[in-house]
Amino acid sequence: MSIAYFDGVIVGGGLVGAALAVALAEQGKDIALLELRPPQLNLQAAATDWDARIYAISPANEQFLRSLNAWPDSERIQPVTHMDVRGDAGGKIDFSAPAIHTSHLTSIVENRWLLQALWQRIHSLDNIHVYSSAAQVLHSDEQAASVTLHDGSVLSAPLIMAADGANSWVRAQTDIHVDAKPYHHHGIVANYRVEKPHGAIARQWFKQGDVLAYLPLPAQHISIVWSTSQTAELMALSDEAFAERVAAQGEHSLGTLTPIGRRFAFELVLRRPEKMYAPRIALLGDAAHTIHPLAGQGVNLGFGDVMVLAKLLQDAQDWGRSNVLRQYEAERLHAVRSMQMGCDGLFQLFKTEAAPLSWLRNTGLNLVNQMGGLKNQLIRQAMGL
Ligand SMILES: Cc1cc2nc3c(=O)[nH]c(=O)nc-3n(C[C@H](O)[C@H](O)[C@H](O)COP(=O)(O)OP(=O)(O)OC[C@H]3O[C@@H](n4cnc5c(N)ncnc54)[C@H](O)[C@@H]3O)c2cc1C
Repeated sequence: MSIAYFDGVIVGGGLVGAALAVALAEQGKDIALLELRPPQLNLQAAATDWDARIYAISPANEQFLRSLNAWPDSERIQPVTHMDVRGDAGGKIDFSAPAIHTSHLTSIVENRWLLQALWQRIHSLDNIHVYSSAAQVLHSDEQAASVTLHDGSVLSAPLIMAADGANSWVRAQTDIHVDAKPYHHHGIVANYRVEKPHGAIARQWFKQGDVLAYLPLPAQHISIVWSTSQTAELMALSDEAFAERVAAQGEHSLGTLTPIGRRFAFELVLRRPEKMYAPRIALLGDAAHTIHPLAGQGVNLGFGDVMVLAKLLQDAQDWGRSNVLRQYEAERLHAVRSMQMGCDGLFQLFKTEAAPLSWLRNTGLNLVNQMGGLKNQLIRQAMGL
């Protein structure tokens, strides 16, 4: 049996685990990164079509990724300068970058380009050791932690960092309880070429409990995320018939939508673990929390976890000491829960059909829209400023 010792072991090399690996390696630490499916670095193939999985990355996280030299090539990135959100009975709120003296509110980026930029950095750093293997056994107590791989080799470190996604294997090995609340909605994602220019505006409609977002992409394309309970019916439509439904739900604001690429649906679940750590284990990203996508905060919260943990570990003698992990939780749990509750509250408010609530939510949107100070504070918070 071989045992290898590292400063830290990261399980999961999605966006969150990959960013964490680069951030810690740049501090000069020796990191083991376990990823079952390391991405293929084939930029040419990726350039020919559009990824259906896209993210709105906040300026704070863009800055963080730039600091890691892991921000992708700009021609695939669409800065958003305005946001236009519509309620279901005349309510409206809009946000504008010039109003808060900034160049953009968020940036729309495809998953694969972000992942490629991070993994290129991983391959350029010789203190990140990649294992494309599944962990079989996790051991952790107050003194030490390790994972045993399929071939019997053991990776040992003072801290195991779990970034292995919503159904985290690492988390399942601990006694951390997760409160999982299904929304009974799916998020349907798809990309389109649009007839009218999108004007770098992100648009969103709350209608009959559904939430539809149009996110601008470069070269007169958009990506849509439709949170809906009518998944089976909508997914059974042809691409063209579905595009017409998307155009109608979006009030034909961008004219005809021409499908480009595949459409797919993913289940929306609010997951709130009671804790973000166990002895010598820290949870990050979707392993620690999942959220309704209506504010585009899923992966932004994960990058927030990475920034806080990487900063704490920079000054820590023993990465796995309980005071370090308690501090990590103290700095993240409140921020994560506030964002989860904010998005959940908005979703529930617009899901309810009662007439007084319809009046309240639409009037509320209009009221906040007229309160420049509060409105700008809200958007600054979402931008991580
Ligand atoms: C289909 C889909 C579409 C989405 N679309 C959006 C969107 O439009 N906007 C948005 O904000 N959010 C979206 N989300 C949510 C967003 O993808 C997540 O918030 C974000 O990807 C979380 O990143 P992560 O690195 O924490 O987890 P993940 O991206 O899930 O990465 C986890 C990684 O761990 C690896 N792994 C898992 N188990 C093991 C193991 N035992 N050993 C080794 N490796 C392991 C996996 O291969 C994977 O690479 C979407 C999610 C899904 C599933």
